[in-house]
Amino acid sequence: MATGFSFTLHATDGRARTGVIATPRGEIRTPAFMPVGTAGTVKAMLPESVRATGADILLGNTYHLMLRPGAERVARLGGLHRFMNWERPILTDSGGFQVMSLSGLRKLTEEGVTFSSHIDGSKHHLTPERSMEIQKLLGSDIVMAFDECPALPAADEAVAASMRLSMRWARRSRESFGDRPGHALFGIVQGGVSRDLREESAAALTAIGFDGYAVGGLAVGEGQAAMFGVLDYAPDLLPEDRPRYLMGVGKPDDIVGAVKRGIDMMDCVLPSRSGRTGQAWTRRGQVNLRNARHADDPRPLDEECQCPACRGYSRAYLHHVVRAGEMIAGMLLTWHNLHYFQEIMAGMREAIAAGQFEDWERGFHVLRAEGDIEPLGRPGAA
Ligand SMILES: [Zn+2]
Repeated sequence: MATGFSFTLHATDGRARTGVIATPRGEIRTPAFMPVGTAGTVKAMLPESVRATGADILLGNTYHLMLRPGAERVARLGGLHRFMNWERPILTDSGGFQVMSLSGLRKLTEEGVTFSSHIDGSKHHLTPERSMEIQKLLGSDIVMAFDECPALPAADEAVAASMRLSMRWARRSRESFGDRPGHALFGIVQGGVSRDLREESAAALTAIGFDGYAVGGLAVGEGQAAMFGVLDYAPDLLPEDRPRYLMGVGKPDDIVGAVKRGIDMMDCVLPSRSGRTGQAWTRRGQVNLRNARHADDPRPLDEECQCPACRGYSRAYLHHVVRAGEMIAGMLLTWHNLHYFQEIMAGMREAIAAGQFEDWERGFHVLRAEGDIEPLGRPGAA
């Protein structure tokens, strides 16, 4: 493992694990949820507010940052940590996935991918070597190998060819990354929902040797059952003493199901994106603050939640600012959602350490099944 970067497992409970990733920029408690700071900001949040929710690490997107403001510019300005005022660890993706999902006009070759920017149509070229260079310019603490990921469902041969290309790119990524003390490089297991391909991919990556391993190519439209089907075996294909990262996941019940199956790290735009559209995630499931039932409700979103949105404001106020399109709506709901996601992680870490993950998980599902608190009677209706 890279010098200055380490992973220590503290406890396991069933297949669930808890531990700590140590980096020169601070510790990451696992299982960890990483808020997504797409373009150098977790939208609607100050970095200190993100930290206050309990986040130890953020994710930055290579694709977005290379297009705007540009990796060389970020490097000239002192690197991404200084640029965005977040001194703790940052993981950057490789750009591969977002080239697939966001850019126009792509041309894929053995060498890499040429694409046009979704912002201004300008032409760009990404290769494993350039992806490593960009992530180094950004100053990323955890760098992801450059990969290609087909949208599911896809034909088996297409998934196999894409996975094998990604494995050749993984080797080039490893060679290009070199030896960078304090910085880690993670490989990404591909292979869609095929167990044979996942096994082939995991074997190829472990033969190259990485500081951590991601399970990629999930949460791309295959559904939760298929995703859990892969997670029933995929984490066990990876070295036990390295962190395992499930990319782009997910909803609270996806996260809990993934941790149960041996995943240590996750990221998703869901809590922040939902927060900007009036959607809250709570212990009792999803709440749409846009709904008229909240208009006269003086109660907090979640009376047990300690976040600023729940401590200082009523459902009626949140409903009002969502409907009025006020910026504070996105700020408060993003804060609440990120806080709730971090509470889930903290709860799981504690439960795993105490050997009580199963009980914790049962409680999690029971409360969600009960659903949101009953609406209040309409004033004057009684
Ligand atoms: Zn809250």
